[in-house]
Amino acid sequence: MNGVLVVLEYRGGWSRLSWEALAAGAELARQTRQPLLGAVAAGPDFPGQLGELPRLDRLYLVQHELLGQYTADGFTLALAQLIRKVDPAFVVFPHTYQVRDFAPRLAAQFEQMLIADVVGLRFEESRPVWVRQLLQGKLNADYRHSGAGICFVSIQAGAFRTDDMTAGASQVEVFTPELTASQVRSKPEAPFRASEHTVDLSSAQVIVSVGRGIKEKDNLPVVEALAQALGAELGASRPICDNGWLPMERQVGSSGQTVSPKLYLAVGISGAIQHLVGMKGSKAVIAINKDENAPIFDVADYGIVGDLFEVVPALTAAVRKVKQV
Ligand SMILES: Cc1cc2nc3c(=O)[nH]c(=O)nc-3n(C[C@H](O)[C@H](O)[C@H](O)COP(=O)(O)OP(=O)(O)OC[C@H]3O[C@@H](n4cnc5c(N)ncnc54)[C@H](O)[C@@H]3O)c2cc1C
Repeated sequence: MNGVLVVLEYRGGWSRLSWEALAAGAELARQTRQPLLGAVAAGPDFPGQLGELPRLDRLYLVQHELLGQYTADGFTLALAQLIRKVDPAFVVFPHTYQVRDFAPRLAAQFEQMLIADVVGLRFEESRPVWVRQLLQGKLNADYRHSGAGICFVSIQAGAFRTDDMTAGASQVEVFTPELTASQVRSKPEAPFRASEHTVDLSSAQVIVSVGRGIKEKDNLPVVEALAQALGAELGASRPICDNGWLPMERQVGSSGQTVSPKLYLAVGISGAIQHLVGMKGSKAVIAINKDENAPIFDVADYGIVGDLFEVVPALTAAVRKVKQV
């Protein structure tokens, strides 16, 4: 077994998550002294520019007419054939919706489980220790692969930096899997789309974001008043939008918008990784949460441990007072 094989995703462009999975793969390849390999499954008219990717030791273009549109059957069968041929020590995926759909099954074909949603990687005597979050980010758990067989992992958004990765030409090898139409039992429908971006939070200078700590929709005016006083846009964590309390376009996070305002106020938000990846580029973060151990405080520049129903009205009054001066 040799190599770290990163399975890339192309959906009209190379996703940021694919680059982050490559960053994790590159670190793994460096530490375990193995070649860094890439793979992308695609149809015959694949429009992707392979030269836009970081330079890899080898890039496999897994091409077949039945792979033009994603299906779990097609991708699993095709990638399993490539993995059998390459026999890598590690297979690394970006933790996308598509990967969640087929990667556990692919891993099971090799009698392995997928170590999914990894947010960190460290090494003990050159052996990787994968970090996953449990209980909505309250605990971090270490996972070690037994070493018997291939290790399959998927990488959560925002966990690995791509700053020092630059594009460069790789040696490309076309791999044609054996697939027949009868093996692909599912019919693809329109791909999942993250929330619509009719409100452009990405250009907002100040955002007041509200989370489940607000308890019910009728309490939203508490944070709306603060947003208005600050001249801020209103953002939200996913449960608020899932409940229909605010429209989906106000959602910040991995399946919402990525924002980088000068000031981000997180009100009653715990700081799950899926939320953090959408806002951790903010210049300054203020968190208001009654739980002093909430993970949001790890990324906050200023933290207020307290009941938002007391803190936010007091803050709103203070802002109004200052602005009147
Ligand atoms: C595939 C996937 C994609 C996801 N995408 C996103 C995404 O894009 N964006 C996103 O946000 N989440 C996303 N999530 C969900 C994410 O995992 C968390 O469940 C979510 O972010 C939690 O939202 P929250 O912090 O508002 O709620 P909770 O985790 O329930 O936290 C509520 C917080 O409010 C605090 N609180 C309660 N009462 C008060 C009070 N009176 N005063 C002060 N503080 C109080 C609590 O201490 C707690 O920390 C995704 C999850 C999955 C699986």
